[in-house]
Amino acid sequence: MPVYEFFCRKCQEPFTEIMSVKEHDQRMPECPHCHGTKEVEKRISAVHAVTTKKWLTS
Ligand SMILES: [Zn+2]
Repeated sequence: MPVYEFFCRKCQEPFTEIMSVKEHDQRMPECPHCHGTKEVEKRISAVHAVTTKKWLTS
């Protein structure tokens, strides 16, 4: 499964989460630091981004 990278604006901490594409579309992960989801933003899809573009804009 792909590894996704997220960033918590509240904690100012990045974190990664392994989830299916379907899961990724349906929910935002919990921040491991504050356990909130409201301030979590999506960064890049690490696995899919490696061979093509390093940064994907949303
Ligand atoms: Zn947080």
